[in-house]
Amino acid sequence: MSGGSGQGTQQHFLVAGGGIGGLSAALALARAGQRVTVLEKAAALGEIGAGIQLGPNAFHAFDYLGVGEAARAIAVYVDKLRLMDAATGEDITSIDLGDGFRKRFGNPYAVVHRGDLHGVLLSACSAHPQIELRVKSQVLDYEQDGSSVTVRLASGERVTGSALIGADGLWSAVRKQVVGDGAPRVSGHSTYRSVIPTEQMPEDLRWNAATLWAGPKCHIVHYPLSGWKVFNLVVTYHNDAPEPVAGKSVPMDEVMRGFEHIHERAQQIIRHGNDWKLWVLCDREPVSNWIDGRVTLLGDAAHPTLQYMAQGACMAMEDGVCLGQMMINFPDNIEKALAAYQSRRVLRTARVQLQSRAIGEHIYHADGVHAQLRNTIMRAKTSADWYESLAWLYGNTALSENSMAAAA
Ligand SMILES: Cc1cc2nc3c(=O)[nH]c(=O)nc-3n(C[C@H](O)[C@H](O)[C@H](O)COP(=O)(O)OP(=O)(O)OC[C@H]3O[C@@H](n4cnc5c(N)ncnc54)[C@H](O)[C@@H]3O)c2cc1C
Repeated sequence: MSGGSGQGTQQHFLVAGGGIGGLSAALALARAGQRVTVLEKAAALGEIGAGIQLGPNAFHAFDYLGVGEAARAIAVYVDKLRLMDAATGEDITSIDLGDGFRKRFGNPYAVVHRGDLHGVLLSACSAHPQIELRVKSQVLDYEQDGSSVTVRLASGERVTGSALIGADGLWSAVRKQVVGDGAPRVSGHSTYRSVIPTEQMPEDLRWNAATLWAGPKCHIVHYPLSGWKVFNLVVTYHNDAPEPVAGKSVPMDEVMRGFEHIHERAQQIIRHGNDWKLWVLCDREPVSNWIDGRVTLLGDAAHPTLQYMAQGACMAMEDGVCLGQMMINFPDNIEKALAAYQSRRVLRTARVQLQSRAIGEHIYHADGVHAQLRNTIMRAKTSADWYESLAWLYGNTALSENSMAAAA
């Protein structure tokens, strides 16, 4: 990976959306020598929600973006990914994230606060002279003439650049025009999130692990966050919820309803939660085309996924890195750079989208014989087996010299 700037004429990229994906793209493009204007709909740049898990591939991306040290400073390094049976309260298996894991993948596995992660990217963007960050700038649509793209903002203002990156999330306005595949698919899975002070977490469960309790049609995730001050709780119930919901406050009784059938040891975790917020999860079918002329998509706008592989933000950052590198490879040819970006990203991100759904069905929400089979298969795996099966995702293959080379 070169990470250096391209030699061609400087282009002006418009990036719709200032989330983790949009800021990663802005940083990567600016480091590739381009000028960037980020157009964010909200009145302030920030992130809603608490924790986020980051695989080693996120750290490969941080290093490329020049924020590796800052990102490492905000992380909690968990020792294990621990899988529990929520129906029986027993251990199923765990993946060791220690030295063997780090050596194999070249980087650690960590959990961070979303706001802290966004803050690291935001400070780097704010400090970069070639990046302009604009808030209250909702992109409605775009038009293009072969050499430039003009976006229309909700304010009525028009902004013109050489290309447009739609990093405007699950409900992307840019995707509506590029792909036009309607509303996202409602998964029917309800996710409730809470953050509790560490002293409220049952003492025997204060593990330095990203722990997942898999139960019939439901699962619970918890891990320590913010220097062990709090635990992040994310609990999901497959209740065939029909409508998308994002961040609605709900009472504890409603949350408990989905978990009455699981073991007391797992149930008690939920009772410690408070101020629960509900999301009804959505994703989309993978599509092969993210490009319209000088416009492309990135992050959740391109490949929204269920969170079951904890990879949505990691993929958004990788997208940004890849886009920047393609502008280094093809500095005078935006169309070629966008095509090269797309061809390197579509199958990898589709794999995450499809595998996340499969994991939900066969691992996280299995019941009866299905669950027994899961436990038997997973208990038979060694650390070496796990590392092998995760190599496609966590290894640096997606951002390596070879896969980022101009001709690859
Ligand atoms: C419960 C849950 C847990 C998750 N856990 C993990 C995890 O552990 N690890 C992981 O890697 N990922 C995780 N994810 C996924 C991750 O949060 C997303 O994939 C990631 O945040 C996507 O980033 P993005 O920048 O593409 O989109 P977004 O974060 O949605 O950002 C889009 C931005 O665009 C702005 N915007 C929207 N429309 C417009 C417009 N028309 N004009 C201008 N601006 C606009 C928005 O205000 C927002 O700032 C999780 C997701 C959920 C729901």
